[in-house]
Amino acid sequence: MRARTYHDSDADLGVLTGRTVAVIGYGNQGCAQAQNLRDSGGRVVIGNRDDDCRDRAVRDGFEVLGIDEAARVGQIVLLLIPDEVQPGVVAGHVAPGLRAGDTVVVASGYNLAFGLLDLPGDIDVVMVAPRMIGAAVRDRYRRGVGYPCLVSVERDATGTALHTALAIARAIGATAGGAVASSAREEAALDLFTEQAIWPTVFAVLQASYEVLAAAGFSDDAILDEMYLSGEPAEVFARIAEMGLLDQLRVHSRTSQYGQLLHLERSAELVGTLRERFTEILRGEILSGRFAAQWSAVGADAESRIRALLDRAGTHPLIAAERTISAAPGSTGERVTPCRPVKDRA
Ligand code: NDP
Repeated sequence: MRARTYHDSDADLGVLTGRTVAVIGYGNQGCAQAQNLRDSGGRVVIGNRDDDCRDRAVRDGFEVLGIDEAARVGQIVLLLIPDEVQPGVVAGHVAPGLRAGDTVVVASGYNLAFGLLDLPGDIDVVMVAPRMIGAAVRDRYRRGVGYPCLVSVERDATGTALHTALAIARAIGATAGGAVASSAREEAALDLFTEQAIWPTVFAVLQASYEVLAAAGFSDDAILDEMYLSGEPAEVFARIAEMGLLDQLRVHSRTSQYGQLLHLERSAELVGTLRERFTEILRGEILSGRFAAQWSAVGADAESRIRALLDRAGTHPLIAAERTISAAPGSTGERVTPCRPVKDRA
C-alpha cells in the first residue's frame, strides 16, 4: 500500500502570511525548525522557559517570550519540547492562550495517538514529523535537499488544516524531498515498534552471537570487531538504504552472498516465531495503549526505572567484553567510542 507524497508544489507558503508562528522549545528540533521557518519568510517567535535554550534563541536573533505569552501571540503553535513534558506544559501554559481557528503542530504522534494532549475543540491539530535529527533538518534545508517527514491532519476545525500543515512542512524544508501522508497513530506505532521489536531483537542477536562465538574460544577483540566495533554494519546499512536489501549483496564477496542467501532460506521458522512475537508487541502492547499507559504511570520514576533496566542489561558478558576492550591500554577510542561504561552515561 503506497501513501500519498506531498511536494513543494502542493504547499502554499502564502498560507503563513499574516500569521505568527510560535515555536515552543528551542532544543534539537525547535532551533532548526525556527531558523528554517524564518529563512522561508515566516514571522516567528520563540516560547521558552528562562533557561539555556532561551539564551541561545536570543543569540540567534529571535524574539523570545515566555511559553504562555508565545502561545497567546501565535496563530500557529509548534510544540517542540520533549514528548513526556508536553501534556503538562500544554494544559498549564499553551491551551489557555489558544483561540478558535489557531493551529497546534506536533513533531511526533505519540501524545495525540494516545489521547494525552487536552486541546480545545475549535482549533486545528496537525502533525509535521521530520524523521531526521534537528541539526540535519537545518543543514539539509540550507543545502536545499529534503529529508523524510510524515504529515497528517488530526483535527480539522477550520477546514484548512491540511494547507497549514503543508505550508509549515514546506517552510521547514520537509516537502523538498517529498513529505508522506500519515497519521499520529501510524507515526507513533512505527516509532514504538522499531524501539520495542526491532532493536531489542538486534541486541538479542548480538548477545546470542557473542555467547556462541566466545564459547568457541574466539577472542573478545575479534568477535566485537566482527560484530560491530569496526563500524562495518553501519556501512552495510548505508548500502541497504542506497541499493536495497538484496541488491546491496553485490558489494559482498561471492562466499558471503552464497552463505547469506542459503541461511536466509533456512530461517523461515525463525521469521514465523518473530512474526508472532512482533504481532503481540504491536497489537497487545502498542496499539492497545497498554505500553503508553504503563509509561505514563512510570512518570517521575522514569530515570530510576531506566537505570535499573540498564544495570540488568549490563550484566550480560557481551557488555563486560566491551568494557574490557575500551579500557585496554592503546585503545584509541576511535574504534570503541560506543563502549563507555553504562554507569557513566549521563
Ligand atoms: P529537546 O529535548 O531538544 O527540547 C528541548 C526544549 O524543550 C528546550 O527548549 C527546553 O527548554 C524545553 N523544555 C524541556 N523540558 C521542558 C519543560 N518541562 N517545560 C518547558 N520547556 C521544556 O526536544 P526535541 O527537539 O528532541 O523534540 C521536540 C519534539 O520533536 C518532540 O515531540 C520529539 O518527539 C520530536 N522529534 C524530535 C527529533 C529529534 O531528532 N530530537 C526528531 C523528530 C521529531 P530549556 O532546556 O531551555 O528549559
